Amino acid sequence: MTQHFDYIAIGGGSGGIASVNRAASHGKKCAIIEAKALGGTCVNVGCVPKKAMWFAGQVAEALKLAPDYGYPVDVPALDWNKLVASREAYIGRIHASYDRVLAKNNVTVIQGFARFIDKNTVDVNGTLYSADHISVATGGRPSWLEIPGARFGIDSDGFFALAEQPKRVAIVGAGYIAVEIAGVLNALGSETHLLVRHDKPLRSFDPILSDTLVEQMARDGLTLHPQTQVLSVAQQADSSLLLQLSDDRTLEVDCLIWAIGRTPATDKLNLPAAGVATDEQGFIPTDKFQNTNVPGIYAIGDNTGRLALTPVAVAAGRRLAERLFNGKTDLHLNYELVPTVVFSHPAIGTIGLTEPEARTQFGDGVKIYQSEFTAMYSALTSHRQPTRMKLVCAGSDEKIVGLHVIGFGADEMLQGFAVAIKMGATKADFDNCVAIHPTSAEEFVTMR
Ligand code: FAD
Ligand code: NDP
Repeated sequence: MTQHFDYIAIGGGSGGIASVNRAASHGKKCAIIEAKALGGTCVNVGCVPKKAMWFAGQVAEALKLAPDYGYPVDVPALDWNKLVASREAYIGRIHASYDRVLAKNNVTVIQGFARFIDKNTVDVNGTLYSADHISVATGGRPSWLEIPGARFGIDSDGFFALAEQPKRVAIVGAGYIAVEIAGVLNALGSETHLLVRHDKPLRSFDPILSDTLVEQMARDGLTLHPQTQVLSVAQQADSSLLLQLSDDRTLEVDCLIWAIGRTPATDKLNLPAAGVATDEQGFIPTDKFQNTNVPGIYAIGDNTGRLALTPVAVAAGRRLAERLFNGKTDLHLNYELVPTVVFSHPAIGTIGLTEPEARTQFGDGVKIYQSEFTAMYSALTSHRQPTRMKLVCAGSDEKIVGLHVIGFGADEMLQGFAVAIKMGATKADFDNCVAIHPTSAEEFVTMR
Protein backbone atom coordinates (compact mmCIF):
# COMPACT_ATOMS: atom_id res chain seq x y z
CA MET A 1 0.00 0.00 0.00
CA THR A 2 1.24 3.50 -0.84
CA GLN A 3 1.10 6.15 1.86
CA HIS A 4 0.03 9.51 0.40
CA PHE A 5 1.13 13.02 1.48
CA ASP A 6 0.53 16.58 0.31
CA TYR A 7 4.27 17.23 0.29
CA ILE A 8 7.41 15.11 0.55
CA ALA A 9 10.95 16.44 0.87
CA ILE A 10 13.69 14.01 -0.14
CA GLY A 11 16.71 14.87 1.99
CA GLY A 12 16.64 15.96 5.63
CA GLY A 13 19.25 18.69 5.31
CA SER A 14 18.99 22.47 5.48
CA GLY A 15 16.59 22.86 2.53
CA GLY A 16 14.41 19.80 3.13
CA ILE A 17 13.80 20.43 6.83
CA ALA A 18 13.08 24.13 6.34
CA SER A 19 10.57 23.55 3.55
CA VAL A 20 8.75 20.64 5.18
CA ASN A 21 8.36 22.42 8.51
CA ARG A 22 6.99 25.50 6.75
CA ALA A 23 4.57 23.39 4.66
CA ALA A 24 3.39 21.56 7.77
CA SER A 25 2.84 24.84 9.59
CA HIS A 26 0.21 25.58 6.93
CA GLY A 27 -1.64 22.38 7.82
CA LYS A 28 -0.28 20.16 5.06
CA LYS A 29 0.37 16.44 5.54
CA CYS A 30 4.13 16.18 5.10
CA ALA A 31 6.96 13.66 5.14
CA ILE A 32 10.71 14.01 5.06
CA ILE A 33 12.98 11.20 3.86
CA GLU A 34 16.57 11.08 5.14
CA ALA A 35 19.13 8.39 4.33
CA LYS A 36 21.66 9.32 7.03
CA ALA A 37 21.19 11.89 9.81
CA LEU A 38 18.69 14.74 10.05
CA GLY A 39 20.39 18.09 9.62
CA GLY A 40 22.26 16.95 6.51
CA THR A 41 25.66 18.30 5.59
CA CYS A 42 25.45 21.55 7.56
CA VAL A 43 24.69 20.06 10.94
CA ASN A 44 26.63 16.80 10.70
CA VAL A 45 29.66 17.35 8.47
CA GLY A 46 29.53 21.03 7.50
CA CYS A 47 28.87 24.45 9.02
CA VAL A 48 28.27 23.34 12.59
CA PRO A 49 31.23 21.00 13.30
CA LYS A 50 33.41 23.30 11.15
CA LYS A 51 32.49 26.36 13.23
CA ALA A 52 33.18 24.39 16.41
CA MET A 53 36.67 23.60 15.12
CA TRP A 54 37.13 27.24 14.05
CA PHE A 55 36.20 28.41 17.53
CA ALA A 56 38.81 25.99 18.92
CA GLY A 57 41.32 27.69 16.60
CA GLN A 58 40.19 31.09 17.96
CA VAL A 59 40.80 29.86 21.51
CA ALA A 60 44.29 28.67 20.52
CA GLU A 61 45.01 32.08 18.99
CA ALA A 62 43.69 33.86 22.09
CA LEU A 63 46.05 31.77 24.23
CA LYS A 64 48.94 33.04 22.11
CA LEU A 65 47.84 36.64 22.73
CA ALA A 66 47.18 36.05 26.43
CA PRO A 67 50.70 36.92 27.77
CA ASP A 68 50.50 40.41 26.24
CA TYR A 69 47.15 40.87 27.97
CA GLY A 70 48.74 39.99 31.30
CA TYR A 71 47.97 36.27 31.45
CA PRO A 72 51.39 34.59 31.30
CA VAL A 73 50.05 31.19 30.18
CA ASP A 74 51.97 28.57 28.21
CA VAL A 75 49.79 27.11 25.46
CA PRO A 76 48.86 23.65 26.74
CA ALA A 77 48.52 20.62 24.40
CA LEU A 78 45.12 20.31 22.76
CA ASP A 79 42.88 17.50 24.03
CA TRP A 80 41.47 16.53 20.60
CA ASN A 81 39.06 13.95 22.07
CA LYS A 82 37.56 16.50 24.45
CA LEU A 83 37.09 18.99 21.59
CA VAL A 84 35.38 16.34 19.43
CA ALA A 85 33.21 15.18 22.35
CA SER A 86 32.02 18.77 23.06
CA ARG A 87 31.33 19.29 19.34
CA GLU A 88 29.38 16.07 18.93
CA ALA A 89 27.36 16.68 22.12
CA TYR A 90 26.33 20.05 20.69
CA ILE A 91 25.30 18.38 17.42
CA GLY A 92 23.31 15.85 19.46
CA ARG A 93 21.33 18.73 20.97
CA ILE A 94 20.57 20.09 17.48
CA HIS A 95 19.29 16.61 16.44
CA ALA A 96 17.01 16.55 19.49
CA SER A 97 15.64 19.95 18.61
CA TYR A 98 14.93 18.86 15.00
CA ASP A 99 13.10 15.78 16.30
CA ARG A 100 11.00 17.97 18.61
CA VAL A 101 10.02 20.51 15.94
CA LEU A 102 9.22 17.90 13.27
CA ALA A 103 7.09 15.97 15.77
CA LYS A 104 5.29 19.14 16.88
CA ASN A 105 4.48 19.86 13.21
CA ASN A 106 3.26 16.26 12.68
CA VAL A 107 5.85 15.67 9.94
CA THR A 108 6.43 11.97 9.23
CA VAL A 109 10.17 11.22 9.30
CA ILE A 110 11.12 8.31 7.02
CA GLN A 111 14.60 6.86 7.48
CA GLY A 112 16.12 5.47 4.29
CA PHE A 113 17.26 6.21 0.76
CA ALA A 114 14.55 7.39 -1.67
CA ARG A 115 14.36 6.42 -5.33
CA PHE A 116 11.74 7.67 -7.77
CA ILE A 117 9.21 5.17 -9.16
CA ASP A 118 7.27 7.79 -11.10
CA LYS A 119 6.70 11.54 -10.85
CA ASN A 120 4.53 11.28 -7.73
CA THR A 121 5.96 8.17 -6.06
CA VAL A 122 9.21 7.18 -4.34
CA ASP A 123 10.42 3.87 -2.94
CA VAL A 124 12.20 3.74 0.43
CA ASN A 125 13.40 0.29 1.51
CA GLY A 126 10.57 -1.38 -0.45
CA THR A 127 7.78 0.86 0.86
CA LEU A 128 6.08 3.30 -1.50
CA TYR A 129 5.23 6.91 -0.64
CA SER A 130 3.43 9.33 -2.94
CA ALA A 131 2.75 13.07 -2.85
CA ASP A 132 1.17 15.84 -4.88
CA HIS A 133 4.39 17.85 -4.52
CA ILE A 134 7.92 16.47 -4.10
CA SER A 135 11.09 18.45 -3.40
CA VAL A 136 14.49 17.00 -4.17
CA ALA A 137 16.82 18.44 -1.52
CA THR A 138 19.57 15.83 -1.61
CA GLY A 139 22.61 18.13 -1.36
CA GLY A 140 26.02 16.90 -2.43
CA ARG A 141 29.10 14.96 -1.43
CA PRO A 142 32.84 15.70 -1.61
CA SER A 143 34.50 15.24 -5.02
CA TRP A 144 37.58 13.04 -5.40
CA LEU A 145 40.49 12.93 -7.83
CA GLU A 146 41.16 9.70 -9.68
CA ILE A 147 44.93 9.46 -9.20
CA PRO A 148 46.98 6.51 -7.89
CA GLY A 149 46.66 6.29 -4.10
CA ALA A 150 44.00 9.02 -3.83
CA ARG A 151 42.03 6.87 -1.37
CA PHE A 152 44.87 7.04 1.17
CA GLY A 153 43.52 10.56 1.69
CA ILE A 154 40.26 11.65 3.29
CA ASP A 155 37.66 14.30 2.46
CA SER A 156 35.90 16.87 4.66
CA ASP A 157 33.59 14.14 6.03
CA GLY A 158 36.74 12.22 7.01
CA PHE A 159 38.19 15.34 8.65
CA PHE A 160 35.26 15.39 11.07
CA ALA A 161 35.81 11.67 11.78
CA LEU A 162 39.51 12.03 12.67
CA ALA A 163 40.25 10.22 15.94
CA GLU A 164 43.39 12.27 16.53
CA GLN A 165 44.95 15.51 15.41
CA PRO A 166 47.32 14.94 12.47
CA LYS A 167 50.87 16.12 13.18
CA ARG A 168 51.57 16.92 9.51
CA VAL A 169 48.71 17.49 7.09
CA ALA A 170 48.34 18.39 3.40
CA ILE A 171 45.09 19.92 2.20
CA VAL A 172 44.45 19.97 -1.55
CA GLY A 173 42.01 22.55 -2.91
CA ALA A 174 41.49 26.29 -3.13
CA GLY A 175 37.93 26.99 -2.04
CA TYR A 176 36.07 27.58 1.21
CA ILE A 177 36.62 24.11 2.62
CA ALA A 178 40.35 23.89 1.86
CA VAL A 179 41.00 27.33 3.36
CA GLU A 180 38.87 26.71 6.44
CA ILE A 181 40.27 23.26 7.30
CA ALA A 182 43.85 24.39 6.65
CA GLY A 183 43.33 27.45 8.89
CA VAL A 184 41.85 25.39 11.71
CA LEU A 185 44.54 22.70 11.71
CA ASN A 186 47.31 25.30 11.50
CA ALA A 187 45.83 27.27 14.40
CA LEU A 188 45.57 24.07 16.42
CA GLY A 189 49.26 23.36 15.88
CA SER A 190 49.45 20.83 13.01
CA GLU A 191 52.22 21.34 10.46
CA THR A 192 49.93 22.43 7.63
CA HIS A 193 50.47 22.47 3.86
CA LEU A 194 47.88 23.93 1.49
CA LEU A 195 48.33 22.78 -2.11
CA VAL A 196 46.61 24.87 -4.80
CA ARG A 197 46.81 24.23 -8.53
CA HIS A 198 46.84 27.95 -9.45
CA ASP A 199 48.63 30.88 -7.81
CA LYS A 200 46.50 31.30 -4.66
CA PRO A 201 43.36 30.09 -2.85
CA LEU A 202 40.01 31.90 -3.21
CA ARG A 203 40.97 33.16 -6.68
CA SER A 204 37.44 34.28 -7.49
CA PHE A 205 37.20 36.49 -4.39
CA ASP A 206 38.22 40.17 -4.43
CA PRO A 207 42.05 40.33 -4.57
CA ILE A 208 42.19 42.31 -1.31
CA LEU A 209 40.80 39.21 0.42
CA SER A 210 42.81 36.45 -1.23
CA ASP A 211 46.09 38.40 -1.18
CA THR A 212 45.74 39.37 2.48
CA LEU A 213 44.87 35.79 3.38
CA VAL A 214 48.00 34.52 1.60
CA GLU A 215 50.16 37.06 3.50
CA GLN A 216 48.63 36.08 6.83
CA MET A 217 48.99 32.36 6.12
CA ALA A 218 52.74 32.90 5.69
CA ARG A 219 52.90 34.90 8.95
CA ASP A 220 51.03 32.11 10.74
CA GLY A 221 53.48 29.46 9.53
CA LEU A 222 51.08 27.73 7.13
CA THR A 223 52.94 26.54 4.02
CA LEU A 224 51.20 27.41 0.77
CA HIS A 225 52.28 25.42 -2.30
CA PRO A 226 51.08 27.42 -5.34
CA GLN A 227 50.91 25.93 -8.84
CA THR A 228 51.08 22.46 -7.30
CA GLN A 229 49.14 19.32 -8.06
CA VAL A 230 49.37 15.89 -6.47
CA LEU A 231 50.20 13.20 -9.05
CA SER A 232 50.15 10.14 -6.79
CA VAL A 233 50.03 9.10 -3.14
CA ALA A 234 51.86 6.18 -1.51
CA GLN A 235 51.52 4.86 2.02
CA GLN A 236 54.84 4.18 3.76
CA ALA A 237 55.72 1.48 6.30
CA ASP A 238 55.08 3.84 9.26
CA SER A 239 51.68 4.71 7.64
CA SER A 240 52.77 8.23 6.73
CA LEU A 241 51.89 9.34 3.19
CA LEU A 242 54.32 10.32 0.46
CA LEU A 243 52.83 12.72 -2.09
CA GLN A 244 54.43 12.96 -5.50
CA LEU A 245 53.96 16.57 -6.59
CA SER A 246 53.73 18.03 -10.09
CA ASP A 247 57.00 19.97 -9.79
CA ASP A 248 59.06 16.81 -9.10
CA ARG A 249 59.07 17.41 -5.34
CA THR A 250 57.69 14.98 -2.78
CA LEU A 251 55.91 15.85 0.45
CA GLU A 252 55.61 13.56 3.48
CA VAL A 253 52.57 13.99 5.71
CA ASP A 254 50.47 11.98 8.15
CA CYS A 255 47.15 13.02 6.67
CA LEU A 256 45.96 14.15 3.23
CA ILE A 257 42.63 15.95 2.86
CA TRP A 258 40.94 16.44 -0.52
CA ALA A 259 38.87 19.65 -0.66
CA ILE A 260 38.45 20.15 -4.39
CA GLY A 261 34.73 20.82 -4.59
CA ARG A 262 31.47 18.90 -4.25
CA THR A 263 29.33 16.72 -6.52
CA PRO A 264 25.50 16.85 -6.48
CA ALA A 265 23.85 13.77 -4.93
CA THR A 266 21.41 13.18 -7.77
CA ASP A 267 22.87 10.11 -9.51
CA LYS A 268 21.24 7.36 -7.42
CA LEU A 269 17.74 8.83 -7.11
CA ASN A 270 16.42 7.29 -10.33
CA LEU A 271 15.42 10.76 -11.55
CA PRO A 272 14.74 9.45 -15.10
CA ALA A 273 11.75 7.49 -13.73
CA ALA A 274 10.17 10.85 -12.87
CA GLY A 275 11.44 12.53 -16.02
CA VAL A 276 13.54 15.08 -14.07
CA ALA A 277 16.41 16.49 -16.12
CA THR A 278 19.93 17.13 -14.83
CA ASP A 279 22.81 18.99 -16.46
CA GLU A 280 26.09 17.35 -17.46
CA GLN A 281 27.48 17.73 -13.90
CA GLY A 282 24.38 16.21 -12.32
CA PHE A 283 22.86 19.47 -11.01
CA ILE A 284 19.08 19.86 -11.35
CA PRO A 285 18.27 23.05 -13.28
CA THR A 286 15.38 25.04 -11.79
CA ASP A 287 13.62 28.27 -12.62
CA LYS A 288 13.44 31.10 -10.08
CA PHE A 289 10.53 29.31 -8.33
CA GLN A 290 12.62 26.13 -7.76
CA ASN A 291 10.51 24.31 -10.40
CA THR A 292 12.29 21.51 -12.24
CA ASN A 293 11.24 20.55 -15.78
CA VAL A 294 8.53 18.30 -14.26
CA PRO A 295 5.43 20.02 -12.77
CA GLY A 296 5.06 19.13 -9.08
CA ILE A 297 8.76 18.29 -8.62
CA TYR A 298 11.08 20.97 -7.21
CA ALA A 299 14.77 21.11 -6.34
CA ILE A 300 16.27 23.08 -3.45
CA GLY A 301 19.78 23.72 -2.20
CA ASP A 302 23.22 22.44 -3.21
CA ASN A 303 21.96 20.05 -5.89
CA THR A 304 20.66 22.97 -7.97
CA GLY A 305 24.20 24.26 -8.62
CA ARG A 306 23.43 27.72 -7.28
CA LEU A 307 25.05 29.23 -4.19
CA ALA A 308 25.88 26.26 -1.96
CA LEU A 309 25.12 27.86 1.40
CA THR A 310 22.82 26.73 4.20
CA PRO A 311 20.80 29.97 4.49
CA VAL A 312 20.25 29.86 0.71
CA ALA A 313 18.81 26.33 0.89
CA VAL A 314 16.69 27.32 3.91
CA ALA A 315 15.38 30.50 2.27
CA ALA A 316 14.59 28.73 -1.02
CA GLY A 317 12.80 25.90 0.83
CA ARG A 318 10.68 28.21 2.99
CA ARG A 319 9.72 30.42 0.06
CA LEU A 320 8.71 27.37 -1.97
CA ALA A 321 6.45 26.16 0.85
CA GLU A 322 4.89 29.63 1.16
CA ARG A 323 4.25 29.69 -2.58
CA LEU A 324 2.74 26.22 -2.76
CA PHE A 325 0.77 26.13 0.46
CA ASN A 326 0.14 29.71 1.62
CA GLY A 327 -1.06 31.45 -1.52
CA LYS A 328 2.09 33.56 -2.01
CA THR A 329 2.14 32.69 -5.68
CA ASP A 330 4.99 34.98 -6.73
CA LEU A 331 7.31 34.31 -3.79
CA HIS A 332 10.80 33.12 -4.72
CA LEU A 333 14.37 33.57 -3.58
CA ASN A 334 16.42 36.34 -5.14
CA TYR A 335 19.92 34.91 -5.54
CA GLU A 336 21.52 38.35 -5.99
CA LEU A 337 23.60 40.03 -3.25
CA VAL A 338 23.88 37.07 -0.89
CA PRO A 339 26.42 37.77 1.87
CA THR A 340 28.91 35.04 2.74
CA VAL A 341 31.70 34.47 5.25
CA VAL A 342 34.77 32.27 4.91
CA PHE A 343 35.85 31.12 8.36
CA SER A 344 39.52 31.56 7.58
CA HIS A 345 42.18 33.01 9.91
CA PRO A 346 41.32 35.86 9.99
CA ALA A 347 37.74 35.60 8.76
CA ILE A 348 36.55 36.95 5.42
CA GLY A 349 33.19 38.63 4.78
CA THR A 350 32.02 39.46 1.28
CA ILE A 351 28.92 40.53 -0.61
CA GLY A 352 28.33 41.68 -4.17
CA LEU A 353 30.79 42.38 -6.96
CA THR A 354 34.55 42.13 -6.67
CA GLU A 355 36.52 45.10 -7.97
CA PRO A 356 37.46 43.30 -11.23
CA GLU A 357 33.82 42.23 -11.76
CA ALA A 358 32.59 45.80 -11.17
CA ARG A 359 35.18 47.23 -13.60
CA THR A 360 34.01 44.79 -16.27
CA GLN A 361 30.38 45.72 -15.65
CA PHE A 362 30.65 49.49 -15.04
CA GLY A 363 34.00 50.47 -16.62
CA ASP A 364 35.10 53.94 -15.47
CA GLY A 365 31.97 54.35 -13.38
CA VAL A 366 33.58 52.47 -10.49
CA LYS A 367 34.95 54.14 -7.38
CA ILE A 368 36.90 52.15 -4.81
CA TYR A 369 37.30 53.02 -1.13
CA GLN A 370 39.83 51.03 0.87
CA SER A 371 41.13 50.85 4.39
CA GLU A 372 43.95 48.96 6.06
CA PHE A 373 44.84 48.81 9.75
CA THR A 374 45.70 46.48 12.60
CA ALA A 375 42.67 45.52 14.64
CA MET A 376 43.04 46.76 18.22
CA TYR A 377 42.59 43.23 19.62
CA SER A 378 45.92 42.13 18.13
CA ALA A 379 47.56 45.59 17.96
CA LEU A 380 48.24 45.44 21.72
CA THR A 381 50.22 42.24 21.24
CA SER A 382 53.25 40.92 19.40
CA HIS A 383 50.92 38.89 17.11
CA ARG A 384 49.63 41.74 14.99
CA GLN A 385 47.07 40.81 12.36
CA PRO A 386 45.96 43.00 9.45
CA THR A 387 42.39 44.06 8.68
CA ARG A 388 41.62 45.20 5.15
CA MET A 389 38.35 46.53 3.80
CA LYS A 390 37.03 47.60 0.46
CA LEU A 391 33.86 49.30 -0.75
CA VAL A 392 33.12 48.95 -4.45
CA CYS A 393 30.83 51.76 -5.63
CA ALA A 394 29.25 52.35 -9.04
CA GLY A 395 27.57 55.24 -10.81
CA SER A 396 27.27 58.94 -10.01
CA ASP A 397 25.36 58.19 -6.80
CA GLU A 398 28.12 55.78 -5.69
CA LYS A 399 25.78 52.89 -5.07
CA ILE A 400 27.59 50.20 -3.11
CA VAL A 401 27.78 47.13 -5.34
CA GLY A 402 30.42 45.23 -3.35
CA LEU A 403 31.75 45.14 0.21
CA HIS A 404 34.74 43.05 1.24
CA VAL A 405 36.49 42.62 4.56
CA ILE A 406 39.18 40.38 6.00
CA GLY A 407 40.14 40.71 9.62
CA PHE A 408 39.25 40.03 13.22
CA GLY A 409 35.45 40.14 13.64
CA ALA A 410 34.66 40.18 9.91
CA ASP A 411 32.37 37.18 10.38
CA GLU A 412 30.03 39.10 12.69
CA MET A 413 30.41 42.41 10.84
CA LEU A 414 28.87 41.58 7.50
CA GLN A 415 25.21 40.80 8.16
CA GLY A 416 24.09 44.35 9.03
CA PHE A 417 25.96 45.92 6.12
CA ALA A 418 24.38 43.29 3.84
CA VAL A 419 20.90 44.52 4.85
CA ALA A 420 21.85 48.08 3.87
CA ILE A 421 23.36 46.96 0.55
CA LYS A 422 20.33 44.82 -0.24
CA MET A 423 18.25 47.98 0.31
CA GLY A 424 20.38 49.86 -2.26
CA ALA A 425 22.66 51.84 0.07
CA THR A 426 25.05 54.42 -1.39
CA LYS A 427 28.38 55.64 -0.05
CA ALA A 428 26.56 58.74 1.24
CA ASP A 429 24.16 56.52 3.23
CA PHE A 430 27.13 54.81 4.86
CA ASP A 431 28.73 58.21 5.61
CA ASN A 432 25.47 59.44 7.17
CA CYS A 433 25.59 56.69 9.79
CA VAL A 434 27.58 57.69 12.88
CA ALA A 435 30.43 55.32 13.70
CA ILE A 436 30.59 52.98 16.69
CA HIS A 437 33.93 53.47 18.40
CA PRO A 438 36.28 51.72 18.97
CA THR A 439 35.42 48.96 16.52
CA SER A 440 36.76 47.69 13.20
CA ALA A 441 33.35 48.02 11.54
CA GLU A 442 33.38 51.81 12.01
CA GLU A 443 35.93 52.06 9.17
CA PHE A 444 33.14 51.24 6.71
CA VAL A 445 31.30 54.47 7.58
CA THR A 446 34.37 56.73 7.71
CA MET A 447 36.21 55.82 4.48
CA ARG A 448 37.48 58.71 2.33
P1 FAD B 1 22.34 18.78 2.62
O1 FAD B 1 22.43 19.62 3.82
O2 FAD B 1 23.55 18.24 2.02
O3 FAD B 1 21.23 17.72 2.86
C1 FAD B 1 20.95 16.71 1.93
C2 FAD B 1 20.49 15.47 2.68
O4 FAD B 1 19.88 14.59 1.76
C3 FAD B 1 21.62 14.69 3.33
O5 FAD B 1 21.36 14.54 4.71
C4 FAD B 1 21.62 13.35 2.62
O6 FAD B 1 21.92 12.25 3.48
C5 FAD B 1 20.19 13.26 2.13
N1 FAD B 1 19.98 12.44 0.94
C6 FAD B 1 20.68 12.48 -0.23
N2 FAD B 1 20.12 11.64 -1.11
C7 FAD B 1 19.05 11.07 -0.49
C8 FAD B 1 18.06 10.14 -0.91
N3 FAD B 1 18.03 9.65 -2.15
N4 FAD B 1 17.13 9.75 0.00
C9 FAD B 1 17.13 10.27 1.26
N5 FAD B 1 18.03 11.17 1.68
C10 FAD B 1 18.96 11.57 0.81
N6 FAD B 1 27.27 26.70 4.42
C11 FAD B 1 27.12 27.86 5.11
O7 FAD B 1 26.18 28.60 4.85
N7 FAD B 1 27.99 28.20 6.11
C12 FAD B 1 29.03 27.42 6.46
O8 FAD B 1 29.80 27.76 7.37
C13 FAD B 1 29.23 26.20 5.76
N8 FAD B 1 30.25 25.37 6.06
C14 FAD B 1 30.39 24.19 5.39
C15 FAD B 1 31.45 23.36 5.73
C16 FAD B 1 31.62 22.16 5.07
C17 FAD B 1 32.78 21.27 5.45
C18 FAD B 1 30.70 21.77 4.06
C19 FAD B 1 30.85 20.44 3.36
C20 FAD B 1 29.65 22.58 3.72
C21 FAD B 1 29.48 23.81 4.37
N9 FAD B 1 28.45 24.68 4.05
C22 FAD B 1 28.30 25.87 4.72
C23 FAD B 1 27.49 24.36 2.97
C24 FAD B 1 26.18 23.82 3.56
O9 FAD B 1 26.48 22.73 4.40
C25 FAD B 1 25.26 23.39 2.42
O10 FAD B 1 25.07 24.48 1.54
C26 FAD B 1 23.90 22.94 2.94
O11 FAD B 1 24.02 21.88 3.85
C27 FAD B 1 23.02 22.52 1.76
O12 FAD B 1 21.78 22.06 2.21
P2 FAD B 1 20.92 21.05 1.32
O13 FAD B 1 19.61 20.93 1.99
O14 FAD B 1 20.98 21.45 -0.10
O15 FAD B 1 21.71 19.67 1.38
P1 NDP C 1 34.64 25.24 -3.84
O1 NDP C 1 33.90 25.09 -5.09
O2 NDP C 1 34.42 26.44 -3.01
O3 NDP C 1 36.21 25.16 -4.10
C1 NDP C 1 36.83 24.09 -4.67
C2 NDP C 1 38.08 24.60 -5.33
O4 NDP C 1 39.03 23.58 -5.43
C3 NDP C 1 37.83 25.06 -6.76
O5 NDP C 1 37.33 26.35 -6.79
C4 NDP C 1 39.20 24.92 -7.40
O6 NDP C 1 39.93 26.13 -7.23
C5 NDP C 1 39.85 23.80 -6.56
N1 NDP C 1 39.91 22.57 -7.35
C6 NDP C 1 38.95 22.02 -8.11
N2 NDP C 1 39.42 20.91 -8.70
C7 NDP C 1 40.69 20.76 -8.30
C8 NDP C 1 41.69 19.79 -8.57
N3 NDP C 1 41.47 18.78 -9.40
N4 NDP C 1 42.88 19.92 -7.97
C9 NDP C 1 43.13 20.97 -7.15
N5 NDP C 1 42.22 21.91 -6.86
C10 NDP C 1 41.01 21.80 -7.43
O7 NDP C 1 34.35 23.91 -3.08
P2 NDP C 1 34.46 23.48 -1.57
O8 NDP C 1 34.44 22.01 -1.63
O9 NDP C 1 35.56 24.18 -0.88
O10 NDP C 1 33.09 24.00 -0.97
C11 NDP C 1 31.85 23.70 -1.59
C12 NDP C 1 30.87 24.79 -1.30
O11 NDP C 1 30.36 24.65 0.03
C13 NDP C 1 31.45 26.19 -1.34
O12 NDP C 1 31.52 26.70 -2.64
C14 NDP C 1 30.49 26.96 -0.48
O13 NDP C 1 29.40 27.38 -1.25
C15 NDP C 1 30.07 25.93 0.55
N6 NDP C 1 30.82 26.16 1.79
C16 NDP C 1 30.55 27.30 2.48
C17 NDP C 1 31.24 27.60 3.60
C18 NDP C 1 30.93 28.86 4.33
O14 NDP C 1 29.87 29.44 4.10
N7 NDP C 1 31.80 29.34 5.21
C19 NDP C 1 32.28 26.72 4.13
C20 NDP C 1 32.47 25.53 3.33
C21 NDP C 1 31.76 25.27 2.21
P3 NDP C 1 40.97 26.61 -8.36
O15 NDP C 1 40.22 26.62 -9.64
O16 NDP C 1 41.42 27.96 -7.88
O17 NDP C 1 42.07 25.57 -8.34
